[in-house]
Amino acid sequence: MTVPPSSQPEKPSRYRRHYAAGERIFEAGEPATEAYIIESGRVAIRLSLPEGPKDIAVLGREALFGEMALLGDGFRAASAVAVEDTTVQVISKASFDAALAAADPFLRHLLRLSMERGQQLLRGRSRNERLDADLDDQRDRQRAWERLRFDQALEEAEHQQQFCLHYQAIVPLAEADAPLGFEALLRWERPGQGLVSPAVFVPALEASGRILSVGRWCLERACADAITLGNALGRSVEMAVNLSPRQLEDPALVPAVAAALAASGLAPARLKLEITESVLMSNFEAAQQLLEDCRALGVHLALDDFGTGYSSLTYLHRLPVDTLKLDRSFLKQVQTDDRAYHVVAGISRLASDLGMRTVAEGVENAAQAASLRALGIGYAQGCHFHPPAPLSAALTWLGHEGGRFRASHSAGKPL
Ligand code: C2E
Ligand code: CA
Ligand code: CA
Repeated sequence: MTVPPSSQPEKPSRYRRHYAAGERIFEAGEPATEAYIIESGRVAIRLSLPEGPKDIAVLGREALFGEMALLGDGFRAASAVAVEDTTVQVISKASFDAALAAADPFLRHLLRLSMERGQQLLRGRSRNERLDADLDDQRDRQRAWERLRFDQALEEAEHQQQFCLHYQAIVPLAEADAPLGFEALLRWERPGQGLVSPAVFVPALEASGRILSVGRWCLERACADAITLGNALGRSVEMAVNLSPRQLEDPALVPAVAAALAASGLAPARLKLEITESVLMSNFEAAQQLLEDCRALGVHLALDDFGTGYSSLTYLHRLPVDTLKLDRSFLKQVQTDDRAYHVVAGISRLASDLGMRTVAEGVENAAQAASLRALGIGYAQGCHFHPPAPLSAALTWLGHEGGRFRASHSAGKPL
C-alpha cells in the first residue's frame, strides 16, 4: 500500500485504500473477506495460467470487483492488480452479507447461481466438479423455488379468476340497525386447497407488483357488488376496500378509482378506501397527496389497524381521513387493562371531535360489544355480528333479516 495520490494528507479510513501501479490488491487462492469499488484508477483481474499470467478484465472507475468469492466458496479465483495508482472503496463481508440477507430470496438465489457459474468459468471447472452448495445455499434455493412456484400460482390465479371477494358487515353498535356497509376482503380459491387468506398471499402480490391489477379488480368488483347489496337492502350501502402500499404509490390509482365508480354507478361518497397506519407513515407526503386526490373525487378514507403502529394522534388532523378502525388488539386490552380502556375512550372522543367515525374490528362476543358501546364507539365489525361471507350469503342475510343483528347469528370464524 502506498501514499494517496493527492498531496493533501488524508486521514486513514477503514473503507478507503490506495494502491500504487503494479501493487496486488489480492492474490488467487487467498480467502476473500472484502469486495471493492474503484474510486479512481484501474484494476486488472489476472489469472495465473500455465502459459503465464492473463488479464481477463481491466476495470475502471465505479466498477465492483472481488464480490464473486464472497458469494461463492470464499477463496479468490484470480488476482487483482492495480494497473495505475488506484483508490478503492472497501465493502466488508459483514455489510455485503447484510445487504444479501435483506434481498429477495429469489433474486439472492439467482445472484448466487450466476456468480457460481462465473467462478466456474474463471477456474475452468466443469459443472460436476463444483462443490455442491452449503446448507444456507440449499435453503435459499428451496425458498427461491417455492417463491417462484407461489408467484406462478398467483399469476395463474389471476388469469383463471380464482380470486373472489367476501363481504363483512359494518354495523352500528348503539342499536340493532341495518348495516352501514361492508368491507371487501380478498380470498383466493386455490384449486385443491380451499380458501386462502390474504395474509398469506397479499405480501407476494405486493412484492411482484401484481397487487396493482388485482387491486383494480377488487375496486371494480366491490363497487359493482355495493350496488347489488344496496338494492337488496333498499338503500345504498358503504363499501370499504383495502389498499396496499404499492397501490398508494401508483399514479394510476386515482383514475382506477374513478373508473370503478363510473362503471358501477356507485356514488363516490359510498366508497371508502382503507389504508393502514404503518403504510401511511412510511411515505407520509406521497400518501397524503394521493389520499387528497381520492378525497377530491368524493371518496371517503379510513385509517385501518389503528393502534398497531405509531398511533400518533398528532397527524390525524393533517389527513383527509373520516374513519378510524381500531385494531382488534385493543379489544382484549380494553377488557383487562384500565389504562387501555381510558386510551380507547380518549381516542373515541378525539375522533368524534375531529368529525370522524370509529369502527372497532374483530368483535367476537357480546361482552366485547358491550364494552365498546360503553366507550362510545359508533360502529363495529366482527364474527359476533357477521363473518366475512360471499356476496350470495350476504344477500341472503340482508334478504331474510334486513341485515339486523341477532345474537343467534353470531356463529362463525373469519375465512
Ligand atoms: P384487515 O383489513 O384488518 O381485515 C380484517 C381482518 O379481520 C380480516 O382478515 C377479517 O376476516 C378478520 N376478521 C373479521 N372478523 C373477525 C373476528 O371476529 N375475529 C378475528 N380474529 N378476525 C376477524 P382477512 O380477511 O384474513 O384479511 C387479512 C388482511 O388482509 C386484511 O386485514 C387486509 O389488511 C388484507 N386484505 C384483505 N383484503 C384485501 C384486499 O382486497 N386488498 C389488500 N391490499 N389487502 C387486503
Ligand atoms: Ca381493512
Ligand atoms: Ca384492520
